[in-house]
Amino acid sequence: MPANADEKAINSHCPWSGQPVANDSLTRYRGRTVGFCNPGCRDKFEKAIGAFEEAIARNARSQAAASDS
Ligand SMILES: [Zn+2]
Repeated sequence: MPANADEKAINSHCPWSGQPVANDSLTRYRGRTVGFCNPGCRDKFEKAIGAFEEAIARNARSQAAASDS
């Protein structure tokens, strides 16, 4: 989900590379705007979050299924 371009990222440097944040490489995380040095870094972050969200959801489902039996 692209962040509003008017918002400023809470960080000034990309956590992957240490390069300054670019205005076209922002996203939302836990209700805040976070920035990266380029869209590739942002996409890598979004992909990682997505994978963890999916794993958490899968884990919660399997625990719910286990408590049913
Ligand atoms: Zn970067």
